[in-house]
Amino acid sequence: MESKLPGVGTTIFTVMSQLAQQHGAINLSQGFPDFPCDPVLLQAVTQAMQDGHNQYAPMPGLPRLREVLARKLEAAYGQAYDPEHQITVTAGATQALYTAITALIQPGDEVLLFEPAYDSYGPAIRLNGGIEQRISLRPPQYAIDWTEVQRRVTPRTRLLILNNPNNPSTAMLSADDLQQLRTLLQQWPQLYVLSDEVYEHIVFDGAAHQSLARDPLLASRSMLVYSFGKTFHATGWKIGYCAGPADWMQEFRRVHQFLVFSVNTPMQHALANYLQTPAHYLALPAFYQAKRDRFVAAMVTSRFVLLPSRGTYFQLARYDRISDIPDTEFAQWLTREHGVAVIPLSAFHADGTDHGIIRFCFAKQDATLDAATSRLCRV
Ligand code: PMP
Ligand code: GLN
Repeated sequence: MESKLPGVGTTIFTVMSQLAQQHGAINLSQGFPDFPCDPVLLQAVTQAMQDGHNQYAPMPGLPRLREVLARKLEAAYGQAYDPEHQITVTAGATQALYTAITALIQPGDEVLLFEPAYDSYGPAIRLNGGIEQRISLRPPQYAIDWTEVQRRVTPRTRLLILNNPNNPSTAMLSADDLQQLRTLLQQWPQLYVLSDEVYEHIVFDGAAHQSLARDPLLASRSMLVYSFGKTFHATGWKIGYCAGPADWMQEFRRVHQFLVFSVNTPMQHALANYLQTPAHYLALPAFYQAKRDRFVAAMVTSRFVLLPSRGTYFQLARYDRISDIPDTEFAQWLTREHGVAVIPLSAFHADGTDHGIIRFCFAKQDATLDAATSRLCRV
């Protein structure tokens, strides 16, 4: 059978998590917490089920949840989204991204994205007949060169994908980046933005997340994607949402209704209640910064060279003081021989280019981090 995704194997996250299991390694590869979510949230889900909220939710999401989300977006970024027409609840960010790409591009349209890039963007573009235009960003800052972006935009460029804060580079957009993006969008009226902001609440060192929703012009040209999995330590729930201009959201929902129709009901009820208390997510920067700092401090005596981690729950590291083998081999070797599983950065490059860099996930209990760093310091 002819593949629609030739050359695409099983995602690196599945591969490395399986390898970790096979070797009994500490899994710092796939990004997910190894600690439980808040019992208050769990109780709210149980309660919603017991209260009989077990049938289909409305197609765009529970109105009460969308209202809470509109208030949250406005409070955080100053932008008013109409919950009725501008917000849709999705089965995680992955489905939101896929749906937005499907709704927004036509076959032959060009899509600009930056490398290293989260692994779901490319396949979603190709399955929809789009043409990927990848721009490489360089360590350690992974900053966007807007002159290069200007050079790469053509009248066929329909979409620009941003991931801010970025997995895996941890780079965050600055106010100046937003200004550069404004200029670009003013110049190219056919150009839309898909802004993956799933790590919006995981930002460090006092930085403020520069959501595209902060700017009315950018907001009017962007689909924003969020995930409750990241924010509430529940990646297995696969629930998130998308916010954007009403006409695009109408197209988005046309696709959404035939991909999933609607998203699980009890969790939407629970989240609508739980989100009434912003304290839950406002505590995240300090919570994860403490984990980053613990990891970084413990790694000082290791031979790994850590890159800056500015947000997300990831940490990149060079290993050239240990080995010169390609990162995929190094990740496997580390898992097998030292009992710590990681992600090779080449997985975020379409051509698999090796940069001699691996990614650690520090969304782990302190005891897990301590056990992992003590092994890593012996490598
Ligand atoms: N975008 C990025 C940048 C991610 O890191 C992830 C998952 N870690 C997703 C999207 C997918 O999120 P979800 O699990 O909600 O589908
Ligand atoms: N986004 C997570 C990561 O970067 C993994 C998601 C997945 O396994 N598909 O590790």
